[in-house]
Amino acid sequence: DGIPCKELPSRPPSANVGDLKELQTLDISTNRLLTLPERLHLCLSLQYLTVDRNRLWCVPRHLCQLPSLNELSMAGNRLAFLPLDLGRSRELQYVYVDNNIHLKGLPSFLYNKVIGCSGCGAPIQVSEVKLLSFSSGQLTVFLPAEVKAIGTEKDHVLPLQELAMRTLHHTYHASLKDLDFLSPVSLPRSLLELLHCPLGHCHRCSEPMFTIVYPKLFPLRETPMAGLHQGRTTVSFVAYCCSTQCLQTFDLLS
Ligand SMILES: [Zn+2]
Repeated sequence: DGIPCKELPSRPPSANVGDLKELQTLDISTNRLLTLPERLHLCLSLQYLTVDRNRLWCVPRHLCQLPSLNELSMAGNRLAFLPLDLGRSRELQYVYVDNNIHLKGLPSFLYNKVIGCSGCGAPIQVSEVKLLSFSSGQLTVFLPAEVKAIGTEKDHVLPLQELAMRTLHHTYHASLKDLDFLSPVSLPRSLLELLHCPLGHCHRCSEPMFTIVYPKLFPLRETPMAGLHQGRTTVSFVAYCCSTQCLQTFDLLS
């Protein structure tokens, strides 16, 4: 009796959340997740994503590409930074990141959107988090782990790798969408992936950025939004700019 092993039906190809093209609402709260599913950004119909009370320490920047995402709730995680482009999509109108104590910087795209950020920006020892950080006055924000360098007003010349990536992006931008154009042979795979999905886009001029960003902090307490957030003092909006020129001319309120 019993079925010989070799006759057991083979396992079906594993279903992947990225195959759910019609999915509009996903709630995966309270699951002890450390990361989000890798192909979540392929759920092109997703409008409401709720990942509250997990153990997420980062949000993949690919999520910023979800064209229909309207509400993103990530309260009660361990986020220390958000993707540079979060909120760049006009569809995304509601972002809740309450109770992420390490989170001190909100991308400036979120200004004028509905955000929840109470319980963010608790004072912590710098040694607790090994991330690049940027300080302005008494405020410090952590930058996404992928950012390799921070530019200041004095850094007029971009690093060579950044110049090369921006030039490649300009040259091949039209063909990037169906890009097998640059084979991994001519460009290392990691750089090819970065070329497809830059760190983010300049909050002033939309230039893609690959290794370096020029951040500028706008303390929430100094914006007209301060009243809504009841005196939160340690959270800032961060404008991520592409150059000294954009850094100097960016204004949150214009
Ligand atoms: Zn720029």
